[in-house]
Amino acid sequence: MQKDLLQTPIEFLKGVGPQRADLLRKDLGIFTYGDLLEHYPFRWADKSKYYKVSQINSDQAEIQLIGHITQVDEVGEGRGKRLVAHFEDETGQTELVWFKGIKWIKPAIKLRVPLVIYGKPSVYRNSYNFVHPEMETLEEHQKSLVKGLLPVYRSSEKLNGRGLGSKGIANIMQHLLPQVIEVLPETLSEQILTQNKLVDRKTAFAHIHFPPDPDALKRAQLRLKFDEFFFIQLALLNQKNVHKQQYKGVVFESVGNYFNDFYNHHLPFELTAAQKRVLKEIRRDTQTGAHMNRLVQGDVGSGKTVVALMTMLIALDNGYQTCLMAPTEILATQHYNSLKELLVDMPVTIELLTGSVKQRARKPMLEALSTGTLHIIVGTHALLEDPVVFKNLGLVVIDEQHRFGVAQRARLWKKGPGVPPHILVMTATPIPRTLAMSLYGDLDISVIDELPPGRKPITTTHRFENSRLRVIGFMREEIAKGRQIYIVFPLIEESEAMDYNNLMDGYAQIQRDFPQPNYQVSVVHGRMKPEDKDFEMQRFARGETHIMVATTVIEVGVNVPNASVMIIENAEKFGLSQLHQLRGRVGRGAEQSYCILLTGHKLSADARTRLETMCRTNDGFEIADVDLRLRGPGDLMGTRQSGLLNFKIADLSKDQQLLQLARKIAHEILHEDPRLELPQHARIRSEYIRQHKGKLKWSRIS
Ligand code: ADP
Ligand code: MG
Repeated sequence: MQKDLLQTPIEFLKGVGPQRADLLRKDLGIFTYGDLLEHYPFRWADKSKYYKVSQINSDQAEIQLIGHITQVDEVGEGRGKRLVAHFEDETGQTELVWFKGIKWIKPAIKLRVPLVIYGKPSVYRNSYNFVHPEMETLEEHQKSLVKGLLPVYRSSEKLNGRGLGSKGIANIMQHLLPQVIEVLPETLSEQILTQNKLVDRKTAFAHIHFPPDPDALKRAQLRLKFDEFFFIQLALLNQKNVHKQQYKGVVFESVGNYFNDFYNHHLPFELTAAQKRVLKEIRRDTQTGAHMNRLVQGDVGSGKTVVALMTMLIALDNGYQTCLMAPTEILATQHYNSLKELLVDMPVTIELLTGSVKQRARKPMLEALSTGTLHIIVGTHALLEDPVVFKNLGLVVIDEQHRFGVAQRARLWKKGPGVPPHILVMTATPIPRTLAMSLYGDLDISVIDELPPGRKPITTTHRFENSRLRVIGFMREEIAKGRQIYIVFPLIEESEAMDYNNLMDGYAQIQRDFPQPNYQVSVVHGRMKPEDKDFEMQRFARGETHIMVATTVIEVGVNVPNASVMIIENAEKFGLSQLHQLRGRVGRGAEQSYCILLTGHKLSADARTRLETMCRTNDGFEIADVDLRLRGPGDLMGTRQSGLLNFKIADLSKDQQLLQLARKIAHEILHEDPRLELPQHARIRSEYIRQHKGKLKWSRIS
């Protein structure tokens, strides 16, 4: 019965009607009573207090005053024309100013009638005034229903024209609340409510719209945010349980010769504790017969490649093939080369398959794959094509997760012998743990939170354009010491052609500053053929050129340990995580490395924060946190599972602690009662079912 009421079409609400309902649907997506109830205010105007003219100061937000108008004048000409009213109370006088609507406002003003005005004081010629204040007579004010903190709602121009601006929405909300509030069911158990001191749901809805005081507002916000997080976490955790039970994975029973031989005789360094821990986590997953779906997060240079390789060797020890997918041809090639190097003198077969591999070379490769003589294949999207068939694919490693969609992962699954291969996703774009929990609820997460020993932190500085000569001098010194340098240009323009020209202008300038034969300069950009790109990359990697001028194609993965200087042109145009990725290209060798961020003088506040953050820290997780604050989570993650990010009231960048709490509680409850069958969970169960309608799968009781 409650459900029916909340699903009542919005046009039946008093004060709405068919035409306004149409606009509510189109402009705000409000179809039903329930939708309106969840149309939360985005801010609240404090009308719980009245101020005196003598108390006005410039730090105040909107304030409310009681007084009267003694005089009204039209002053100024043309665009400067305005209406100025002298407003006073017993403590002093101030001015009210209108630039628009003078025609309507002037005749409506009654002198010496008690008024309540509401607005933000601003300073004009050493005194205060109020521009376009709200105004009503004291008599009207006393009759109005709403007191205390007033909700301010999102609306639209058209709705405003039809009397449903913020105030109009507050009015219809006043009609709605008393009808629905009594039938709103509680959705949390008594235990959760009392243990976490959460207010009940009725109070939360009443106070989110019309809070009697700021404390009540905070409690209402907390409760509703908790609900949003809690039910999403419940769904994610349940989904993960279902997945674990539904899909069996191939079992890697034992660690054998390939792994041990590599570990004991070929591994050129000691693994870090973090690498060992992550390998153990992977080992545990792949042993059990469950299907592994694991995300490995690790900052650039943390050594993810070797972890991937050792996992591949475990697969091989158990008779399974592996593929590694990278988002670009350059990256796939680099992975292939570094794996080959690590595997040198080992009896492991490995091939590279990208779009540019010719048919002639492709045929024997695919054949070896289908008969099982090829152990590891590295490649790009080309691996997803139909002719690529494995004999027994047991493990898929995906580099740079964010560029592959869920659908693509699913396509890889089907290439196995029936049982889906284990999935290991590697990402060098650290995201804050709390966010990862909420986004990758369906994946398990491992973190390599330690860099190999002996790395010197990269020194990062920010320089303005006019220091370019000094920067060039510095570059010459570093080259004289035998180092190599990257110079990166942003993709900024609308058109690819303009980006290209921008890069080529820069390249020409660098060639003038670093002339042959003393200096050799490489260039790599998106318009080059893959083999030409590769040729230039290889020249730089072999140390034949001193400087690599490039677009962001070198962003991820590329590994040239002797390159120790990264110069980023127009650094203000890059996002924070991209800057961090680019910086990660240096600092891979034993030498002190540098990152220089070049910018113009005009910088937005956000750009300044990005640059300061880069200069302050090398920690990818800290950078990710700032990035999240600046950009918001939706942007950070692209479109992946963006549905999970459309919170109505919670804010992932500000409410991380609450998210953690909600996740912990959801976990405890599902652990105790996987199908929510205990009587104390009945409320949670019915809300959960309501949110997921028919699309619900429960995990079995284990
Ligand atoms: P990323 O996590 O960015 O993919 P890589 O796997 O490319 O990092 O590793 C970066 C560099 O560090 C490589 O040259 C690799 O050989 C080296 N490396 C990895 N693990 C260790 C370790 N435990 N000790 C020393 N060097 C390591
Ligand atoms: Mg890597």
